Amino acid sequence: MQDFGSNILTCTPSYALYLAEVLAEMGIDPKKDLKLVAGVFGAEPWTDEMRAQIEEKLGILAFDIYGLSEIIGPGVSIECEHRCGLHIQEDHFVPEIIDSVTEEVLPEGSEGEIVFTCITKEAFPLIRYRTRDISRLAYDKCECGRTIARMRKVSGRTDDMLIIRGVNVFPSQIESVLLDMGQTSPHYQIVVDKKGMMDTLEVQVEMTQDMFSDEVKEVERRNAIESTLAVSCAVKLVEPKTIARSEGKAVRVIDKRKR
Ligand SMILES: [Zn+2]
Repeated sequence: MQDFGSNILTCTPSYALYLAEVLAEMGIDPKKDLKLVAGVFGAEPWTDEMRAQIEEKLGILAFDIYGLSEIIGPGVSIECEHRCGLHIQEDHFVPEIIDSVTEEVLPEGSEGEIVFTCITKEAFPLIRYRTRDISRLAYDKCECGRTIARMRKVSGRTDDMLIIRGVNVFPSQIESVLLDMGQTSPHYQIVVDKKGMMDTLEVQVEMTQDMFSDEVKEVERRNAIESTLAVSCAVKLVEPKTIARSEGKAVRVIDKRKR
């Protein structure tokens, strides 16, 4: 990026945070030493809190892009400068929201699984193709003037959902709470296990320099996660850089119950 004077970065959001960490280790200040102005990130669900971290650490504006390799890859939809949902290229893709259990089409504004029908794709047509991604559609005019449908940032996948003691839990809910509390490393992992008949949930969060001997915050974090998810959990602070970094999609959940 230094050699080429790159001004746009595009990768997964977790890889962007990994890059920020490596830049800091190399003594490169992205705000001074690089020419980056914006980033386009996708291929995994990420929260607005994570967006704030990327923007702060890299000194850029971060935009969400969405796509599926079965359709065209990235480019099915992308955020405009107002970043209030991703504009869907409706001249190519017709979106619908369905109930992932009954497969019924849900009314406008409902949350559910997004499905796409490709109207211009040749040779490999897809009709009401199920994405497993959870979103919501809006058809009102965006501040940018575009009138095409917008999809809300994907909050998770139907197959990402964990059922802990009968309660539905999405990894993105945990990420939101952790990052919202500030001073938190964006590197975390969720470990689900079973003790006897009971499911256990442990959230491992990497310590940052200002988190050492931060027991009070640990209790606060646990309380915040528990009240958001309505399920009890343990929060474990782990040494910096012990959670594996990804060069592709981040591994957020280790579910030991399946072994
Ligand atoms: Zn717009």
